[in-house]
Amino acid sequence: MAVSMMLFTRDLRLTDNPALSAAAAAAAAVVPAFVLDEDLLRHGAAHASRLSFLHDSLQDLDRSLRAAGGALVIRRGSPWAAAVIELARQAGVTSIHVADDVSGYAQARLAQLERAAAGERMAVTRHPGVTVVPPGTVRPAGRSVFQVFTPYYRRWQEARRRPAADRPAAVTLPAGLAHGQIPSLSGLTSARPAAGLQAGGESAGLARLRSWVPDSLGDYDRARDDLAADRSSRLSAYLHLGCLSPAAIEAELSGQPGSAPFVRQLAWRDFFGQLLADRPDAGHRDYRDRGDDWVCDPGALEAWRAGQTGFPVVDAAMRQLAAEGFMHNRARMIAASFLTKDLYLDWRAGARHFMTLLADGDVASNQLNWQWVAGTGTDTSAHRILNPTRQGQRFDPAGDYVRRYVPELAGLPAGVIQEPDEAARRRCGYPAPLVDHRVAVTEYRARQRAGRATRPGRA
Ligand code: FAD
Repeated sequence: MAVSMMLFTRDLRLTDNPALSAAAAAAAAVVPAFVLDEDLLRHGAAHASRLSFLHDSLQDLDRSLRAAGGALVIRRGSPWAAAVIELARQAGVTSIHVADDVSGYAQARLAQLERAAAGERMAVTRHPGVTVVPPGTVRPAGRSVFQVFTPYYRRWQEARRRPAADRPAAVTLPAGLAHGQIPSLSGLTSARPAAGLQAGGESAGLARLRSWVPDSLGDYDRARDDLAADRSSRLSAYLHLGCLSPAAIEAELSGQPGSAPFVRQLAWRDFFGQLLADRPDAGHRDYRDRGDDWVCDPGALEAWRAGQTGFPVVDAAMRQLAAEGFMHNRARMIAASFLTKDLYLDWRAGARHFMTLLADGDVASNQLNWQWVAGTGTDTSAHRILNPTRQGQRFDPAGDYVRRYVPELAGLPAGVIQEPDEAARRRCGYPAPLVDHRVAVTEYRARQRAGRATRPGRA
């Protein structure tokens, strides 16, 4: 009997999964496999929330596969490609189906798999599914990639969509293949997942989608920047691990009242994906080197991480991250701007901290949003500077977001909570502001001018 392998990676779902549907169509028996990458696990050992979300997602996938007559076949190993090939050999697999991905690490891992499979006469096919529009589909004339969102978005909207992939009605495993156990991933780190972490998995993701859309889609554009209302979809971690298909969400929501601004956010996700696929080094290097000479100030970095900067909305943001493994998008922008503009600390230090705590931590969306805020990305606006106090007053006017995450300030009235005076801070046991925003901005601009002057070829 012919055997194919469905190799799950960042597409942990049965619905609209092109690789799964191709694997099921290719052979009478399918090995639905997830191979834990020891190298990634070692590297990601501190990422307790993402590991917990992954564990939930694998369990849910296993339950769904069992309901279809199969089971999730689990292995672990290093190098990942060798562990995949070993399983494929054991099971007599002739074709491997896997989702294509964007990061440098994922690309290298897939290339390694393809080389190893070629030696075994196994075919590897990469399928779409991680993004709505696959990277490289939409290109500007004469260039490999769109660097500006608006023209990208225009072409993204017009790009042809692939047909939805069928959910296999039944999954038949090859006889005699041991399933293996989903290991408890909590032992890999001494850190604990965030107390307010969402449950992972396709079932939980679909439940979230089903409850959020009727309640909030219509009002998304108006309410999404309201920090306290917390009305955005909170689908990002499900999208990151592919518990939900971004293409299926787009297809389902398009045309519904209020869907356009929401779908535009999915295009931002694809935009950063195509940028990273084109420039994998942007995960750790400035997309455009501005000649920044970042400050080294471990004390300031620690205060930012701990939510002790003395700027209430920044501290609320950082404490939300620690408490939930999630942060509101507007809060991410405020916290990132504060780190890179007010403190003039390297965006990589901030991005690393976000990646450690976010359940949705994603190389493309995280690193490139950080670069967008820091001004080192594709965007030419180097002076995108957010005033943390004004941002708090504008997007949390009643102060309820601050009250939720900075309880020592909970008793302060709306008019002062974003900018408590010295006496109120003393009374509440809340720190003085780490910097004077106006002075910090003046210094930042001076540094930018100096950086420009010392950069080769610039006036
Ligand atoms: P919604 O507003 O409901 O949006 C729907 C979906 O669109 C999101 O789930 C997400 O998949 C996508 N999306 C929305 N905004 C963006 C955006 N700016 N860029 C890319 N995709 C977007 N998103 C991540 O998924 N992972 C990250 O690691 C990440 N790090 C970020 C770091 C910084 C400094 C900033 C400014 C943004 C970051 N984002 C990241 C983007 C955005 O903040 C989150 O996707 C969003 O807050 C998730 O909440 P939501 O699902 O309720 O979003």
